Amino acid sequence: MPSQTASRPAHPVALVGAGPGGADLLTLRALRLIEAADVVIHDRLVAPDILALVRPGAHLVAAGKEGFGPSTPQDAINALITGHARTGARVVRLKGGDPVLFGRLDEEIAALEAADIAYEIVPGVTAASAAAAAIGQSLTSRGRNSGVRLLTAHDMQGFADHDWRALARPGEVAALYMAKRAARYVQGRLMMHGAAPDTPVTLVENAARPDERILATTLADWPTALADAALAGPALTFLGLAPRAARAEIPDAIQELA
Ligand code: SAH
Repeated sequence: MPSQTASRPAHPVALVGAGPGGADLLTLRALRLIEAADVVIHDRLVAPDILALVRPGAHLVAAGKEGFGPSTPQDAINALITGHARTGARVVRLKGGDPVLFGRLDEEIAALEAADIAYEIVPGVTAASAAAAAIGQSLTSRGRNSGVRLLTAHDMQGFADHDWRALARPGEVAALYMAKRAARYVQGRLMMHGAAPDTPVTLVENAARPDERILATTLADWPTALADAALAGPALTFLGLAPRAARAEIPDAIQELA
């Protein structure tokens, strides 16, 4: 608890989205904050060319969920952020994509509030946006889908529960994060609620990175296609959305986009 005489750190902690890939998808605000930072605490999804923007002499801390050996517990990350901020340092907490999506932002905000430290949030390009661009598609379309859901396949209990009945309806589009291990589970739920077996399912691995790959399949073939593809990098899964034009005609094809 802050004492009554404790003064607030001079600089608000910046909770910054690094975007899905290279430095050219950073916002200018993110770039300025990274360049000015004394301490950058980053997660494992942040690309090396972005970390290279941190000025020499600044403190670079990897605090990922799987980045180095066992993942860093959230409490330890919170303590790192508040500890550095209290020294008066300019602290940037750098997260892949947009920090407001599936990034445990609330826990870090709560820790900052409890420590009476101000913060600002800098949005980033989320993986779903980059993946939609990769397949040449709009996430919404007049006459096709008037909304899109951003879902995680996992929550604290394991596989996340969703409104499967709604998701199974024709024309629904959803972007699934962290879904590589959940293919069979989600497939089962959707089929149980009447989704068509030929519903398009598209995975974009390493969206907006040089090693980007697209896997276009169907709900029926999804788990097998995924196992065959052996994707190693982060992947975004679209339900109900196929790659635009010619790409959609090659079922289960992996396209290398060098
Ligand atoms: N805050 C991040 C999401 C963090 S959760 C964002 O807004 O993008 C991590 C998940 O995001 C991964 O499991 C994967 O599903 C997705 N992801 C992140 N970066 C990605 C990328 N470059 N390509 C494809 N999927 C990505």
